[in-house]
Amino acid sequence: MIGLVNYASDPHSVELREVPVPEIGEDDVLLNVQAVSICGSDLHQYTGKQSWKVNYPVILGHEFSGSIAVLGKRVSGFREGDRVVSETAAVLPPDSAFIRRGLYNLEPKRLGFGYGVNGAMAPFVKVPARCLHSVPAALSLEKAALTEPCCVAYNAVCVNSHMRPGDTVAVIGPGPIGLLCAAMAKLSGAGHLIVIGTPADAMRLEVAKRMGADTTLGAQGEDVAGWVKNFGDGYGCDLVVDAAGVSATLKLALDIVRPAGQITKVGWGPQPLDFSLDQLVQKAATLQGSFSHNWPIWEKVLTLLASGKIDLDPILNRISPLSEWREAFEEMHSGAIVKGVLKP
Ligand SMILES: [Zn+2]
Repeated sequence: MIGLVNYASDPHSVELREVPVPEIGEDDVLLNVQAVSICGSDLHQYTGKQSWKVNYPVILGHEFSGSIAVLGKRVSGFREGDRVVSETAAVLPPDSAFIRRGLYNLEPKRLGFGYGVNGAMAPFVKVPARCLHSVPAALSLEKAALTEPCCVAYNAVCVNSHMRPGDTVAVIGPGPIGLLCAAMAKLSGAGHLIVIGTPADAMRLEVAKRMGADTTLGAQGEDVAGWVKNFGDGYGCDLVVDAAGVSATLKLALDIVRPAGQITKVGWGPQPLDFSLDQLVQKAATLQGSFSHNWPIWEKVLTLLASGKIDLDPILNRISPLSEWREAFEEMHSGAIVKGVLKP
């Protein structure tokens, strides 16, 4: 079969290659991939700018859906042909204390698809059955491929953040995760939803409005902290979700969070910080990290997607065959599209 392989750490070390169809174990299924969504982390590996260890050569892709082609001997609860999506923790140490807590997403030794083990930018992928969730009939497999980033956003906003209906919520960074965090904040009853970007994000900030943002800031280089100071009672935002891929935005988050408010950081940024955290102390604000997702989150997100309560139409801007991967990667990288889906 032909898979999209990331073969080295040098920038642009990605190409289509002939690769073997995976062999599965007793607890796995062989999944016939129908749709795989491009993630910012695929782009980081494409440009050689990731901050995690990659097992080269590896097939990219961890946001995917498909139909079950072959069942391992010990797999129960699924049948051949079932439409499914897969979680991302492909390999877990069986004795992990975090499996016992249901927080296997936080197990430091976990390996994920697309960097630790072969991913889904290929016609077939090997998946442990414990990773699978059934896709409701009302949900297309193209949209189902975006379940994973929706789960990242659900975990950040609905699980790891303390948020009440009526809260003023700001999301920094209108990439796919930020836009989906905005959607989750809207669903959770945000009283006023602000999405913040830069002039390069002008198109994505328009998308943010379609996702339910009441105010977007940054497209014209506005003074964001000044705007927030003049908004409402002037104390700032109850919740700031930092979904930008740079560390420096944490400073803005500290500037605009309300005393006793919360900052949830879901965006990665390997750059060191060069500012004081005194505002965190003085405001007695909570700084919370959020990473990945677990089983109950997937079930809830699939329900929200199937019912249309999360609308992916504004962000799913391109569906192409795997052969057009480079154009799709480049369009996402440049911000011309928010999210692209490939069909192997
Ligand atoms: Zn992803």
